Amino acid sequence: MSEPSESCVVQAENVEKWFGPLQVLKGVSLSVRRGEVVVIVGPSGSGKTTFVRCINHLEKIQGGRILVNGHLIGYRQAGKRLVEDRERNIARQRRDIGMVFQRFNLFPHLTALGNIVEAPIQVRGIDRARAEAEGAALLKRVGLAEKADAYPAQLSGGQQQRVAIARALAMKPALMLFDEPTSALDPEMVGEVLEVMQELAREGMTMVVVTHEMGFAREVADRVVMMDGGQVVEEAPPALFFTAPRSERTRSFLARLL
Ligand code: ADP
Repeated sequence: MSEPSESCVVQAENVEKWFGPLQVLKGVSLSVRRGEVVVIVGPSGSGKTTFVRCINHLEKIQGGRILVNGHLIGYRQAGKRLVEDRERNIARQRRDIGMVFQRFNLFPHLTALGNIVEAPIQVRGIDRARAEAEGAALLKRVGLAEKADAYPAQLSGGQQQRVAIARALAMKPALMLFDEPTSALDPEMVGEVLEVMQELAREGMTMVVVTHEMGFAREVADRVVMMDGGQVVEEAPPALFFTAPRSERTRSFLARLL
């Protein structure tokens, strides 16, 4: 196994994941450098969502290992053995990772600003005034300065997803994971969310994005990773990935999208 690397935010090595008798990740390895945007594509059921959930330890892995910012996720080293980590340590590791889901999962009883400041106050222990000032700045960054006092039910899907992004950013994560962030949106709202993500990428955020938006992959990704059958079958910069894919499975996947 390779050593923790300073320049890598994510180092996943030979990750295996089973759901009962079903193996859904069959030795997935992926490194993500600081500031890099990696877009994961592939057919439905290929393990993309499961893999990003493993990075955040929302799913336990049965083989291999994952380092985020040089720290093992979910396990710690005891001599030569890996032992499962305690929830408290996992919670600490997760603080470095922002996650945005297909469904926005905002707290319905809290305003947009309330949703954003909750974790910084409760988890990081930041005082309310400072958290609200930072939260307001984040709302401005996602184009929702005027919606601070709106409740989720008063916001469109696209607006809710932008609040969810701001909420994740409020924890100042080293890594942002996006799991099909636009799949549940009406088509006219997809663009506004992708724009916010593109801006984040431009600002140098390290991102792993599962998406079916090939335009985003083409324009924003530094690297496109194709998964199929629980494995990485190809990874390449978008210019190569979309014009000269090496794997037959990538070619047939791309052909089906046309
Ligand atoms: P993708 O994101 O590429 O569509 P997923 O990671 O969602 O793929 O799913 C990969 C495989 O794992 C699928 O066969 C799916 O049915 C299965 N799977 C996902 N989550 C669970 C679960 N909680 N229990 C059992 N099987 C699951």
